[in-house]
Amino acid sequence: MLRGNSIKLLTGNSHPELAQAVAERLNIQLTPCIVKKFSNGETSVKIQESVREEDVFILQSGCGDVNDNLMELLILVSACKTASARRITAVIPCFPYARVDKKDKSRAPITAKLVANMLVVAGCDHVITMDLHASQIQGFFDIPVDNLFTEPLMIGYIKREIDGWRDGIIVSPDAGGAKRATAIADKLGIEFALIHRQGNSNGAPERMHILVGDVRDKVAILVDDMIDTGNTLALAARALKDGGAKTIYCIVSHGLLSETNFSLLESLPIDQLLVTNSVPQNQHCDRLSKLVVLDVAPTIAESIRRTHNGESISLLFGEWADGAGVGEHHYGERHPMKPHRLSLTNALVIGVTPGNQNDMKHLIDTFNCVEDCPVFADMYDFTRMYAGASLAAARKLCAGTTDIAINWSGGLHHAKRGEASGFCYINDIVLAILELLRYHPRVLYIDIDIHHGDGVELAFWNSNRVMTVSFHKYTGDFFPGTGRLDDNGGGIGKHFALNVPLLDGIDDDSYLTIFKTVIGDTVTAFRPSAIVLQCGADSLGCDRLGAFNLSIAAHGECVNYVRKFNVPLLVVGGGGYTVHNVSRCWTYETSVLVGAEVPDHLPQTMYDAWFADDYTLHPTLAGRVDNQNTPAALQRITRSIRQKLRYLQGAPSVQMQEIPPDLAGWLAEEERTTEEKAEDHGAVPAGEFRVPPPKAVNEYFDSETDVDRDEETISVVKTRGVASGRRARGRGRGRGRGRATATAIAAVASGEGGNDDDADEATTSTPAPVSRGRGRGRGRGRGRGRGRGRGKAVAAAEDKPEESEKTILEPETPTQPPSDDLEP
Ligand SMILES: [Zn+2]
Repeated sequence: MLRGNSIKLLTGNSHPELAQAVAERLNIQLTPCIVKKFSNGETSVKIQESVREEDVFILQSGCGDVNDNLMELLILVSACKTASARRITAVIPCFPYARVDKKDKSRAPITAKLVANMLVVAGCDHVITMDLHASQIQGFFDIPVDNLFTEPLMIGYIKREIDGWRDGIIVSPDAGGAKRATAIADKLGIEFALIHRQGNSNGAPERMHILVGDVRDKVAILVDDMIDTGNTLALAARALKDGGAKTIYCIVSHGLLSETNFSLLESLPIDQLLVTNSVPQNQHCDRLSKLVVLDVAPTIAESIRRTHNGESISLLFGEWADGAGVGEHHYGERHPMKPHRLSLTNALVIGVTPGNQNDMKHLIDTFNCVEDCPVFADMYDFTRMYAGASLAAARKLCAGTTDIAINWSGGLHHAKRGEASGFCYINDIVLAILELLRYHPRVLYIDIDIHHGDGVELAFWNSNRVMTVSFHKYTGDFFPGTGRLDDNGGGIGKHFALNVPLLDGIDDDSYLTIFKTVIGDTVTAFRPSAIVLQCGADSLGCDRLGAFNLSIAAHGECVNYVRKFNVPLLVVGGGGYTVHNVSRCWTYETSVLVGAEVPDHLPQTMYDAWFADDYTLHPTLAGRVDNQNTPAALQRITRSIRQKLRYLQGAPSVQMQEIPPDLAGWLAEEERTTEEKAEDHGAVPAGEFRVPPPKAVNEYFDSETDVDRDEETISVVKTRGVASGRRARGRGRGRGRGRATATAIAAVASGEGGNDDDADEATTSTPAPVSRGRGRGRGRGRGRGRGRGRGKAVAAAEDKPEESEKTILEPETPTQPPSDDLEP
């Protein structure tokens, strides 16, 4: 904070009205200075008041005669520097040369960086700007830069002035602006649409079409950061009108409107064009009746006041900015009554209470970040690291640079598409398998965590290219409550999920017998071209949350058995809550995987205290829990699984015609879009024809369509008795899911209860697809309740098929975990 000095606000010739409005807000007079031109065109500056030891703010916008105005700013900064100002802040509502922010062609200058350097050299200490075209410009400065947002102003206007905004849809005219537009749509709780510019290399006129979202009969609100020639707006407005939009509004931060055909803009089918006064709008208002100007003076004044007092600028964009309506009014410059006091009060109130807690609560609940999956510091980095490692491992296997890849930090098998679950936030296994599927026709997933691998099973429930096999404790109420013997997949994925439910205390011999029998038979029947093995160490004896009796040697023998198939292998970690045994186990399994023999005596490390009991790699872990698995029960499970494997009838063949784009392809595409936008904003002179790069049809994918496209490249293969209608159903997971739900529900409603594929299994597994179908159709938000409830719902349905739908619809009360608060 700079105490004992006052705010001095200076301005050049770019936008004197805005500077005057800001000064009035701050209840100060503009510092008089004369900025004019010498007869030879050079800029002359004379500051007519002392600025010695003052906190100087110089407001100048990048508009009009941009170069002259930039030079005025530099000279004003320099003049204040030599006049011993204590601190100089350049306030640049519209940053000049912001569109030239990267070296996209050889010999192209990064002019935004040059402007940044010039400001620093002139003596600038701090920059305040607004809605920067690209956030990377902030990084060009070695001095602090505050980027103010007009978003709260826009949201306030939409809520106050646009009738029917609740049925509105926010539209971005290109992918580059999608982030800005979705942020506004999210805050308003309304839908989002993306339009896409399509040009023709043969010289046909450009046009836009709606790529994402449906604007029909809606209030379409187009959002962009800059309007210059208005060509983009013209194309977008026509696309929205053609798409059936009821009314069209356009909201833009910086309304440059240079070289604009105003009569063209006037004739467009838009109700209003909103811009801010970050650049002068008086002349534009005279020529365009649809123009509405939002005043940024209050925002700029408040940011200057906060900077002067050393307060947070980011709090300026908290909730209070939304409701700042009262505080924005003004009784007149000399009147003692200042409604602005309410803005100050709000800011102070928000400053001392966690104002966004309620907003966040909704998100935290939606994504199930409660209890088992708390929000913690840097959790994004944490999830990114373990998920990124599994993806990198999968890519190495695809590239053939390794046969076996290990990621002990991965294996978080409970996470679902839309929610965290059981300590798992992102399902790295699913991501890795999806990556493997780009090159491998069939992937086998094996899970020896004591908990059911529900997230992975659910992700590939309808896939016959991924076979999931999970060995786990199953009692109905043990987390996550899923993984019954008879849960075997759905749709074309039926029979491609296996579950081996076990009881407490299983010992080495029983476990290895059933593991080797099941996996041996599965590999023979499914013939995987890659295997993912989840090595959760909570199946060891003496685990804090688990209740099996396995030794490290037996756990490791499972890994060894899988390794011997000599199929590309991704090994991931998973659960494991007696820390010193988890590290012993994964150390031993690393040695197994690399084919090294390691001594039983542990090496000396800084963690010796953790292993003080005996310093051995293989301590005795068995004997704490009695084995409740009878040989007869295990044989019954093995027989049942062999029976199920008979349905596979040989492995499905997969015709790989086209490989979906990988990450590098995506980034290149994004780069191209940004480039196009830069050109649209004026890097190419108005009127000059621009040839856009050739485009493939359907080049933009969101998650759903991406999956569709992926699937279309795969020839669907029949399992026994699958009718052609069913094959069609399986095409494209997005669509397939919806129809599967409808089919299954119809079956129950009409009392048929027949199994989709197999009459011989109808009596036991009929309702399973129903609850699956419904659960999946509804998407996110019900993971744990749903998962646990499923078993019960199915059981009820077996007795009374006519009630099954009702049973499933009722939300289940999650069953309490057996003892510890922590489950997996
Ligand atoms: Zn576990």
